[in-house]
Order: sequence, then structure tokens, then C-alpha cells
Amino acid sequence: MIDPVCNTKVDDKSTSIIHNNKKYYFCCPTCKWAFEQNPKDFIKESPNQ
Ligand SMILES: [Zn+2]
Repeated sequence: MIDPVCNTKVDDKSTSIIHNNKKYYFCCPTCKWAFEQNPKDFIKESPNQ
């Protein structure tokens, strides 16, 4: 698993949340908080590719 906020490797016992039916893992509550504030900033999706 990769923390989408800081791109650190995390394991599946780390803090996680479900967003748009996808599970995201975080290294620390601060990264989780940052993601929750603005998930789109951290989700790299390219719908046209
Ligand atoms: Zn992090």
C-alpha cells in the first residue's frame, strides 16, 4: 500500500478510510486528515486515458 498523501509505503494495518468504495491507507493521522480535506488533490486518476 502507498500513502497517497506522502507516497510512503504503509502496510494494511495502517490507518485507512473508504473513499468512493476504494480503501486508502495512511502512515499517520495527519495524512489521513489532509486526504479528507481534499481527496481529489491526492487521487491520481486519468479518466481519459
Ligand atoms: Zn503519510
